[in-house]
Amino acid sequence: MTTSHMKAPKPTVAGPNAFSPAALPIWGTAETFDVHRIYCVGRNYADHAIEMGHDPSKEPPFFFQKNPDNIVPPGNPFRYPPRSSDVHFEIELVVALQSGGSDIEVSSALQHVFGYAVGLDMTRRDLQSEAKELRRPWEVGKAFEGSAPCGPLVPTSVCGHPNRGRIWLDVDGEQRQKGDLEQMIWKTAEVIAHLSTWFTLAPGDLIFTGTPSGVGPITRGNVMRGGVEGFPEIEFVVV
Ligand code: MN
Repeated sequence: MTTSHMKAPKPTVAGPNAFSPAALPIWGTAETFDVHRIYCVGRNYADHAIEMGHDPSKEPPFFFQKNPDNIVPPGNPFRYPPRSSDVHFEIELVVALQSGGSDIEVSSALQHVFGYAVGLDMTRRDLQSEAKELRRPWEVGKAFEGSAPCGPLVPTSVCGHPNRGRIWLDVDGEQRQKGDLEQMIWKTAEVIAHLSTWFTLAPGDLIFTGTPSGVGPITRGNVMRGGVEGFPEIEFVVV
């Protein structure tokens, strides 16, 4: 497998600020996928929109971002972040792009997908709620250090394009979130098409596609374990 299309641009000369991009392992290989940007879809499952106090039938998709280096690759702990006492899990299907562009058609959108993973859109809910109330940006609630734990990327050659199947999250062995990918209001191809009208998508971009209902808080010592039917399970210990 060639890796050229998976690599984000790198400086040709190592400067004083040289750094390595965040990367995810590619399942079944020794290769990694460099992360370019992280986009997230808000409220993409009706039952989660309702639990957050919104009417899902009235809302077009909207997006926010995390920082690429917020990724926590599998095998690492989730470090409880500062300045919050209400950190929530959100289990999500993650789409990884091998190519991109602007104004992508729904009909060709899936051609840009390299693969899929299971990830967590960790959220400082107290700070996000305050930001909503004060009409401020969401970064402090969503784009903090370690806010994007993610499992290995499974190439489409292995997993296809999943559009149904169980998605779930347990905390300390107790089921907290449970849904099915077929409950996604905006499907993967539609998400890519919409997003590409606002941003120029590129190889290495990840898109977190939204979470089912049941989101809730974690504390240090908890073990978050989750998955999507057909994908390797993820497990992150909260430290
Ligand atoms: Mn989310």
